[in-house]
Amino acid sequence: MSRVYNFSAGPAVLPEEVLREAADEMLDYRGCGMSVMEMSHRSGMFETILNEAEADLRDLLQIPDNYKVLFLQGGASQQFAMIPMNLMKHGEADYIVTGQWAKKAWQEAQKYGKANKIASSEDKTFSYIPDCSDLDISPNADYVYICENNTIYGTKFKKLPNTKGKTLVSDVSSCFLSEPVDVSKYGILYGGVQKNIGPAGMVISIIREDLITEDVMKGTPTMLTFKTHADAGSLYNTPNSYCIYMCGKVFKWLKNMGGLAVMKERNEKKAKLLYDFLDESHLFKGTVVPKDRSLMNVPFVTGNAQLDAKFVKEAKEAGLENLKGHRSVGGMRASIYNAMPIEGVETLVDFMKKFEKENV
Ligand code: PMP
Repeated sequence: MSRVYNFSAGPAVLPEEVLREAADEMLDYRGCGMSVMEMSHRSGMFETILNEAEADLRDLLQIPDNYKVLFLQGGASQQFAMIPMNLMKHGEADYIVTGQWAKKAWQEAQKYGKANKIASSEDKTFSYIPDCSDLDISPNADYVYICENNTIYGTKFKKLPNTKGKTLVSDVSSCFLSEPVDVSKYGILYGGVQKNIGPAGMVISIIREDLITEDVMKGTPTMLTFKTHADAGSLYNTPNSYCIYMCGKVFKWLKNMGGLAVMKERNEKKAKLLYDFLDESHLFKGTVVPKDRSLMNVPFVTGNAQLDAKFVKEAKEAGLENLKGHRSVGGMRASIYNAMPIEGVETLVDFMKKFEKENV
């Protein structure tokens, strides 16, 4: 067996220890004679898996007691609709558009009310985070929405926007659990788990309790009402049980690694290796304003599309996979999530140095 270094933006690399453990437990989970995949979601065994996953996540993120943790289906994209349907009590919300995912969320919200674009970085291909210290927040806005780490463009909010007292809603899909955060600053933080946490097919939404009400937009389906899932402890219907099990394993892995402060240090070290090289390279360059660079997604280009394609092809042959950039940016993108070992980034930088020597 040989595993590659997988730089995919998601679904993405998972910790090898976690995969091995899951493989060991595949046929017979802890003596119960069946796989977690085959287990009733109402069984005591699964209940323990779910409860432990939630408790470990609460521990990692220091989630205050007045927040619910929901394990939901429909991916992060379903939250684009659930959020306005559940939160737009006055029919209005403010969106900060810093990439395709924020834009999609903003466009979706327009179906349900007045969604104002109060800031954007589209003028420069989303290569920076706009100044959000004194925005024109709408008096009637029920919340202010951001995408905290922009997976495609490789930017990250280093400072949360000044929402002037309004509820902050944040899509943290591509920076979930990459560093400690103060949950109390958010009304909702949510993310698809397929980047930094587990297999695809689930979103975790962490919601302040006062935002979970029956007073939702008329016609909101039962399944798209936060209260449905909060009241049922994420077991209103059959959840993505195997995904919850895998996420639970990753939470335990993160705790064993030392928690989110240690992950932050590790992630900063990995990102620095790559950014430092990009800053000194005569061939490659980063596409993002340095102060807004993401620790998770690192886009870069040579400036020559043919050379970019050659790089991606040769990197793949060298065991460095999924480095092709998103079609809207071109070039390359290295996603270096929690589970990417530092050796993976070192190998990538060494390969880039060699490629540069051969091609400049
Ligand atoms: N938000 C962000 C920041 C993303 O990167 C993605 C997926 N790449 C999404 C939302 C959409 O996620 P999903 O495919 O789970 O709906």
